[in-house]
Amino acid sequence: MNDSGIIKIVEQMYGANGRKILEVLLNSPNGRTIEEIAQETSIRVNDVRRLLYEMSQDGLVAYIRSQRGESHWYSYRWYSNYSMLKASLARRLKEVIRVLQERLNFETSNTFYICPNDQSVYTFEEAFENNFQCIQCGSDLVEFDNRPIVSYLSNIIEKLKKYDNSVG
Ligand SMILES: [Zn+2]
Repeated sequence: MNDSGIIKIVEQMYGANGRKILEVLLNSPNGRTIEEIAQETSIRVNDVRRLLYEMSQDGLVAYIRSQRGESHWYSYRWYSNYSMLKASLARRLKEVIRVLQERLNFETSNTFYICPNDQSVYTFEEAFENNFQCIQCGSDLVEFDNRPIVSYLSNIIEKLKKYDNSVG
């Protein structure tokens, strides 16, 4: 994935302000303080702080703490770079793939039943326990063909894995 693709994803996750903050940091090899970022982007200090905190939770940004002279005051300089962004997105992507894979396993290792009346879906065990009748309305359940779901999930996972290989 190229750098502008990464920036677009960041914007989707943290909004236009998140993107602005990140762009400032990417152009600041020595880092920036929250006040400097706020000044440069015209985003309120509190919002800058909140977004930096959120992005740091995801590993997109980090800070270096340094003492101001002999005082007890510390200054925090925030920084980021493309390898941090790539690593963070790759982790997130892996997590998404893992969740989808779990869902796929669930779909392929179970038989499902559906109520023709209200579309409630049951696993075999649930349907069996209720004598193959819908809990909501009492209709007789019919077997549910989940192959479209299975192929949909398989396709997405396949695509994400290709993406994953290009990111990380
Ligand atoms: Zn029903």
